[in-house]
Amino acid sequence: MAHELTGYLVDAAVGTIRDHADELTGLDQAIGDGDHGINMKRGFDAIAETPEIKTLPLGDALQKAGMTLVMKVGGASGPLYGSLLMAMGKAVAGDPAAGDQVQAMLVEGIAAVKKRGKSDAGEKTMLDVLVPVGETLSSSLSRRLSPAETIANLRAAADAALERTKGMKATKGRASFLGDRSIGHIDPGARSSQLLLHAACDAVAGVLRS
Ligand code: ADP
Ligand code: MG
Repeated sequence: MAHELTGYLVDAAVGTIRDHADELTGLDQAIGDGDHGINMKRGFDAIAETPEIKTLPLGDALQKAGMTLVMKVGGASGPLYGSLLMAMGKAVAGDPAAGDQVQAMLVEGIAAVKKRGKSDAGEKTMLDVLVPVGETLSSSLSRRLSPAETIANLRAAADAALERTKGMKATKGRASFLGDRSIGHIDPGARSSQLLLHAACDAVAGVLRS
């Protein structure tokens, strides 16, 4: 089951980044330097071109995928997503599809992004999707919701959090150079995080169905 999940995850993540690369670049053209889609596609293409990742148990696969992003992506997002995936991979201990396991992985992954980025929620970055998603997972688990309800909540939380980045002023990353002019635009890294969250939900839903 673990390896099956890894395969679904890689396919879903690579697919959504390839499908949305131009959109991510467009978002970054508005408040950055217009390379976010190029960076993400380069990184996820490299993951797709390392077929052994799909054969590894989830923890090892995430760590290898994270290292691939760090090595292949030049922009800020490479080391940040690399740190996220490596820390999530290191946190895998039990059944990777169990809710509290995913929660522990997300807590570690978010902490690694904050540390690497010297950033926190509220600064108009990928953390403004990741942190609310983590909070929603925690509350869904404590309310003992079903996997299907939890997945639906996570998707809705990511979508709402992404929209909220529009009204935020960037204080980290290149968009912070724009000051108030960053307001009114969706953050590109928040969009890629929301896309990857949906891909992860698709993959887990696929495993639950099989
Ligand atoms: P670069 O900014 O080097 O061009 P990208 O365009 O690939 O890199 O990625 C930009 C995204 O990275 C931003 O939209 C933001 O979400 C995220 N980001 C940038 N700096 C930080 C940071 N310090 N902490 C968290 N996320 C950040
Ligand atoms: Mg950029």
